[in-house]
Amino acid sequence: MSRAFNFSAGPAALPESVLQQVQAEMLEWRGERASVMEVSHRGQSFIDCAAETERDLRELMGIPDDYAVLFEQGGATTLAALLPLNLAGPDATADYLLTGHWGEKALENARPSIGTHVVASSKDSGYKSIAERASWQLSEDAAYFHYTPNETIHGVEFHDIPDVGNTPLVADFSSSLLSRPIDVSRFGVIYGGAQKNLGPAGIVIVIVRRDLLGKHGRKLPPIFELENQAKNDSMFNTPPTFSWYVVGLVLKWLKAQGGAAAMEVQNRRKAEILYGAIDGSGGYYRNEVATACRSRMNVPFFLANPELDKAFLKQAEAAGLLGLKGHRALGGMRASIYNAMPVEGVQALVGFMADFAQRNG
Ligand code: PMP
Repeated sequence: MSRAFNFSAGPAALPESVLQQVQAEMLEWRGERASVMEVSHRGQSFIDCAAETERDLRELMGIPDDYAVLFEQGGATTLAALLPLNLAGPDATADYLLTGHWGEKALENARPSIGTHVVASSKDSGYKSIAERASWQLSEDAAYFHYTPNETIHGVEFHDIPDVGNTPLVADFSSSLLSRPIDVSRFGVIYGGAQKNLGPAGIVIVIVRRDLLGKHGRKLPPIFELENQAKNDSMFNTPPTFSWYVVGLVLKWLKAQGGAAAMEVQNRRKAEILYGAIDGSGGYYRNEVATACRSRMNVPFFLANPELDKAFLKQAEAAGLLGLKGHRALGGMRASIYNAMPVEGVQALVGFMADFAQRNG
């Protein structure tokens, strides 16, 4: 067996020890004489596993008691559509700040259900920066303010939490959940698909201030009503049990690493090594994002000579460095360096980059 360093944007690398535990428990889990995928979500073993996962997440993120934690089926896109339905009525307006592709997608998914207002957008400059706070045009009475703390494709990240007064902040943390400590009490809703920092695809974590639920006055199908999920421990219907279980293992791994604070130290270090190599390449490689909002999780970069892109990717794969092809919207390369990517993986990447530049100068 040979496992490579996987820089894929998502689904993405998982800690090897987690995969080994999944493998060890595949045929029999918790003395059930069956795998976790084969037992009822209403059985005690799964209920215990689900509760442990929630407890660990609460501990790791310092989630206050007045927030519900939901484990939802689907992707972040599902929640981008469900949240507008759940947070306000159709006559309300919600503010959207656009700093990249996923903010745009969230807006598209909100438009059928609620009035939307774009507070500011950095699209005209190719989403290489975040519009200055002073230029944001906030609505008078917004039901919530939606933004994307880390734009996975454009590699643009907030390094602080925006201040929008009393308007509840709704944040799509899909690609940066638990990559650093955050003050949950500053948010109305935090949501994120698991498949980058936390586990397999198919499950979305939603942390929502309880008082925001059930106030929309709409007639929703019960399954779309997040309050029902909150009241039923996210088991209003069958949850994605396998994904939930793996998220639980990843959280235990995170605790053993020292939690979000330890992750932040390591993630900073990885980002410094990679941006350092790009900026120090004399223009051979470039990242175009404004320094103050460069992402620590997703690093898009371009070769000065795009004719070498194919050779770069092919040789990188041969060197055991996978998933470096940039998103089709941007081209070039992208290295995603989530929690599970060790520092050695980034060192191997920058070593390869220097070597490639030397050989193809
Ligand atoms: N938001 C962000 C920030 C993302 O990175 C992604 C996936 N790359 C999505 C939303 C969409 O997630 P999903 O495909 O799980 O719906």
